Amino acid sequence: MAIERSIDTEEIAEIAKQVADQTHEPHRLVDSSTNPDDSSEQDEEVTLRPLTFADYIGQERLKTNLKLAIDAIRKRDDGSALDHVLLYGPPGLGKTTMANVIAREMGANLRVTSGPAIERAGDLASILTNLQPGDVLFIDEIHRLRRTVEEILYSAMEDYKLDIVIGKGPAARSVRLDLPKFTVIGATTRTGSLAGPLRDRFGLIHRLEYYKIPEIERIIMRTANLLGTGIQPEATNLLATRSRLTPRIANRLTKRVRDYADVNGDGFINVELARSALEMMEIDNLGLDPADRNMLQLMLENYGDRPVGLNTIAALTGDEAATIEDYYEPYMLQLGLIERTPRGRAVTKKAKDHLASIS
Ligand code: ADP
Repeated sequence: MAIERSIDTEEIAEIAKQVADQTHEPHRLVDSSTNPDDSSEQDEEVTLRPLTFADYIGQERLKTNLKLAIDAIRKRDDGSALDHVLLYGPPGLGKTTMANVIAREMGANLRVTSGPAIERAGDLASILTNLQPGDVLFIDEIHRLRRTVEEILYSAMEDYKLDIVIGKGPAARSVRLDLPKFTVIGATTRTGSLAGPLRDRFGLIHRLEYYKIPEIERIIMRTANLLGTGIQPEATNLLATRSRLTPRIANRLTKRVRDYADVNGDGFINVELARSALEMMEIDNLGLDPADRNMLQLMLENYGDRPVGLNTIAALTGDEAATIEDYYEPYMLQLGLIERTPRGRAVTKKAKDHLASIS
């Protein structure tokens, strides 16, 4: 294998091409367009997505810190890139949206990929060699990157160098390429699963918090407005209290209730229509749906208030453990319906009272 050596721009272009040729489907991996798999839900999601800090409701601490970092870069104007940013927190709180906002506020291109989509080191190499100076690379579910891919990312993030092996067998050679200065924005539902060295490469690490009810109300009003639907303040408040303090769910409920109001009324969302739509969807006053209640009920029936392991809960409900950890559990922990103990998760008195009150 050849030793590291310097190479010129033309050779870099040639290597980038070779690397791209080695990958399966390079064009699908980094797709800055909206979504190749366009459904109307995704189209609407795109329209509803805030594009600027001004439109991005809540997460004030995160916005203040990011604005400061972006202003500092602008002021310096020396070609340096924004520090790599790691955003973590439960799904639907606005990590992808924030990556879009950052890129836009920086006047940069956004490249989007995800941990599971980058199957091989060559896939990542192809993405990196196609970046332009200042580009923002968004890696969703970054905790799911493979170890071999992660290792390439370390040096790319640390000193904008890419160490790759080109070719196979005796013809294989190792080269070190200079990369343009770029910014990685990683999103993860769990920082715990992120390898320490990868985590250390991020200059800005932020946890997205659950939203406050007045913030969710603002999101619902904004969404209703963008959908061209009128909504009564009491209906906004009702939907906000059922949205699990999560913008994605607030948007989803608003859209479903709008459909219901179109069919069962004149399209205006008043509180009566909102209430009967929520009843039809079986969403209770804490924002729990039948699947959530089923999980609590099964834990209670089988284990009372004793702690249960995650895998046992998964076996009871028939879900993947990861689904329970990412989707069901964070909000229930936040509400105090379950608690985490060293021996597993336990149903609380609050959950028991809640189930009793609605049965
Ligand atoms: P995540 O990447 O954390 O899973 P997304 O960024 O995809 O979440 O957010 C889901 C949807 O919620 C977005 O399409 C957007 O419309 C809405 N949303 C998220 N955060 C906000 C916010 N702060 N203000 C307004 N809408 C938001």
